[in-house]
Amino acid sequence: MLLARVASPVLTDMDFELSDEERAFQAAVRTFGDRVLRPNEKRIDREGRIPDEVLREMAHLGLLAMPVSTDYGGMGASAILTELASEEIGRGDFSMATAVFFLLEAGWGYILGQHGADAAKREVLPAVCAGKAFLGIATTEPTGGSDLHAMRTESRRDGTSFVIRGEKAFLSGVEEARRLGGGHLTLTKAPGKGFNFIYVPTRSEGATTQKFENMGRMGISTGAITYRDVRVPEAYLIGQEGRGFDYAMEGFSVARTFVSAACVGAAERALEEGMKYLRERQVFGQPLGKFEGPQFELVDLYTQVEAVKWQCRRAAWLLDRYTLRGDSSHRSEVDRAVASVKLTAPQVAFECVKRVMMWHGASGYTKDVGLELGLRGIMSYMVGAEGGLNIMRIILGRELLGRDFLPYK
Ligand SMILES: Cc1cc2nc3c(=O)[nH]c(=O)nc-3n(C[C@H](O)[C@H](O)[C@H](O)COP(=O)(O)OP(=O)(O)OC[C@H]3O[C@@H](n4cnc5c(N)ncnc54)[C@H](O)[C@@H]3O)c2cc1C
Repeated sequence: MLLARVASPVLTDMDFELSDEERAFQAAVRTFGDRVLRPNEKRIDREGRIPDEVLREMAHLGLLAMPVSTDYGGMGASAILTELASEEIGRGDFSMATAVFFLLEAGWGYILGQHGADAAKREVLPAVCAGKAFLGIATTEPTGGSDLHAMRTESRRDGTSFVIRGEKAFLSGVEEARRLGGGHLTLTKAPGKGFNFIYVPTRSEGATTQKFENMGRMGISTGAITYRDVRVPEAYLIGQEGRGFDYAMEGFSVARTFVSAACVGAAERALEEGMKYLRERQVFGQPLGKFEGPQFELVDLYTQVEAVKWQCRRAAWLLDRYTLRGDSSHRSEVDRAVASVKLTAPQVAFECVKRVMMWHGASGYTKDVGLELGLRGIMSYMVGAEGGLNIMRIILGRELLGRDFLPYK
């Protein structure tokens, strides 16, 4: 009886099938990953940078700042298409360095494109899309990254400029922004109340950088920037004065989805390498994969990766349907989807790499086999990059129980 009242009980608009174009694009990015990223990943890790020719090819394929409109040099890609590319890049360069470069340009390029002034978009975005400039995010400070309201970096308007004073730390891409040009969307305290979100070129007068020595994803730098009365034109303000926090949170929703997609790609790659090994490695007179221990582990990991992959696709689907259209009516649903997948994807990917390393025995511990690249890279998303795991839990707790249950005021 109830079913009879549903207009079309057998047909819904839910569709898990990618379009022909999406599948072709996915295949093209996988080919790029196999042909260009895999052979270079150890070099990227060893030399501490992504070779210029790799960035040039990514630009040529339209892979840099994909969601940026074609008016500013991007491809105006959907979140789903960008999510698919992020998976493939995470699968291709297991160190995650290229994935980080990719997703920062996509996420923060999108925010500049969506909320920036036309002059800033024209100046910055075509260069970013061409791989000739870097665009990153600067929110974290030496005194802490999770508690953004405690930040100290300030910006004040002075005529037609903003003047910035303070210090940011653990920023991805400080060296790249110096070398290539470009800068970071920088969250600052506005005088009185609120935040200003401002594009700050790293080569600005008064800005000095320091590089940190990380344990992983060596191909993209991490470091600090000190701002001593750095002056930038008012056109570099993102959106409205005082509302910067909202734009930063929107950017995190987008970037966290692409982070999660890169983790899915890395997890799938780990399992593919693991399955190959389980088939080939002979122990006690038969393939390792015939033993229930590793085989059941494989199956459990596979189901987790599948779950997180579809969680990730759904987050991207929600972004396309609402966030990227400027529709904040489903904010809570988007926040829950994004925080869930950013909480799960790095942990699942880390577990996959760790288990596959164990199946490999001693060889898994060698740099030659290279699984450790993935372990070091994915770890960055466990400790904090794009928000720590507990911050995802706090977002989810807030959405499930209500703001009164936030563990802080
Ligand atoms: C490789 C890498 C690259 C990065 N790139 C950037 C970048 O490009 N731009 C940028 O701005 N930042 C960047 N970060 C910094 C990142 O955003 C921060 O690490 C993150 O926000 C956490 O801040 P924190 O490290 O200061 O840890 P803290 O905020 O000091 O937190 C320490 C630990 O406590 C947990 N915690 C914090 N508050 C709570 C709470 N209320 N309840 C329970 N647990 C809590 C955290 O999850 C974390 O595990 C990067 C970090 C890494 C590792």
